[in-house]
Amino acid sequence: MTIRTRIAPSPTGPFHIGTARTALFNYLFAKKHGGLFIVRIEDTDKERSKPVYETDILEQLLWLNLNADETYRQSEHLSRHAEVLRELVSSSAAYVSNEQAKDGSGREVEVVRLHNPGAVISFKDLIRGTIQFDTAELGDFVIARSITDPLYHLAVVVDDEDEGITHVIRGEDHISNTQRQILIQRALGYREPAYAHLPLILAQDRSKLSKRRHAVSIAEYRRDGYLSTAIINYLALLGWHPEGEGEILSMQDIISQFDIERIQKGGAIFDVEKLKWFNRQYLLQLSKKEQEDAIVGILSEILKNEIPSFSETVARRIVPIIVERVSVWDDVRQLAHAGDFHFYFMKPALEKTMVMWKNTGVEETRRHLEHLIGVLGKADEDTYEDPGRIKEAVWSYAEKEGRGHVLWPFRYALTGREKSPDPFTITAVLGKEETLLRLNAALDAL
Ligand code: GLU
Repeated sequence: MTIRTRIAPSPTGPFHIGTARTALFNYLFAKKHGGLFIVRIEDTDKERSKPVYETDILEQLLWLNLNADETYRQSEHLSRHAEVLRELVSSSAAYVSNEQAKDGSGREVEVVRLHNPGAVISFKDLIRGTIQFDTAELGDFVIARSITDPLYHLAVVVDDEDEGITHVIRGEDHISNTQRQILIQRALGYREPAYAHLPLILAQDRSKLSKRRHAVSIAEYRRDGYLSTAIINYLALLGWHPEGEGEILSMQDIISQFDIERIQKGGAIFDVEKLKWFNRQYLLQLSKKEQEDAIVGILSEILKNEIPSFSETVARRIVPIIVERVSVWDDVRQLAHAGDFHFYFMKPALEKTMVMWKNTGVEETRRHLEHLIGVLGKADEDTYEDPGRIKEAVWSYAEKEGRGHVLWPFRYALTGREKSPDPFTITAVLGKEETLLRLNAALDAL
């Protein structure tokens, strides 16, 4: 038997992080067992389904590398659903019933109800064990609004059968639907797929994940510059964990270690900080070129118009410094907007009192700056390639005179900021000429 799983999203909203995780687990289970992963767009709710959401679902699945082996659209099978409905009625497994409309209008409406034998049914959920329902409570439930208009459960059952779905892996909010779907399967003499109901993804306080607190759509994470590899790794561990240690797992690692029985029953807590941590690990793993392309791209976009002296060469040089500070590309964007990188590209404005460290006076600070200008003026170009060597060139003097007294004016002269990376790193970025110009400007400010 070839295993066939499906993700069956309804295109009634942006592709949700929970749906992405369900898709991932379906994908993993299929790939683990050499099976096929199927995408079925459940677009039969004409009012709420929108083509933009369908496009979003398909795009984000592709972006996440959850490639479908087959894709279906439920609305393309409406006549098939109606045909099965007629079969059910003609075999007397279901019947047409004329009833008073529930809206109090006194109108008579036609619905189709399933003859429910009212048995106790149970199924073995791969995650939750045996689940049992007394279906007598359901009575003869409605399966169609009319003989030509089947309702959702019938459509799902028919599609799962026609698409050969062997395993239905979905959120636990669908558990109560399962009893109806199994009753319809039995009425039709269909085989019963295996079921696995995933724990819901919860917010930190165990409430439902809501977009009021943080982004819940994959598109937003993508826009903020999360990497799809990090999202996949993080989502895989939301409710599942491998037998071994180690959290950084590629899709291939996850597939090979995946075991549906290791999925937990309890809710999985969504922690955006943890997701950021994963993202950072994946940013660090990118090649130098990939890091450069992303960061230089963002800096150019934001700073080019703002700063006439913006330079891509300098932007490229600060890539390693920026990578140290961020978890997500959007962090770069925010820092750039906040002006954190301006000083790399333009001379900072200096305030006289800020040039001096604490109670160091003008004369003393002048002396330290002159010393730095002397030493760094003599340093060769090779020294400027390496922050370590710049540090060496000034370190013993700073130790002797007091680090703050020397290094504060050094750093402030270069950046005009209270906080920044160390002056050695910045000197290496700015190069000899610019460093000396800025140190002299600090002298002038005094
Ligand atoms: N279309 C349903 C949803 O988006 C999923 C149905 C199913 O997985 O059986 O929640």
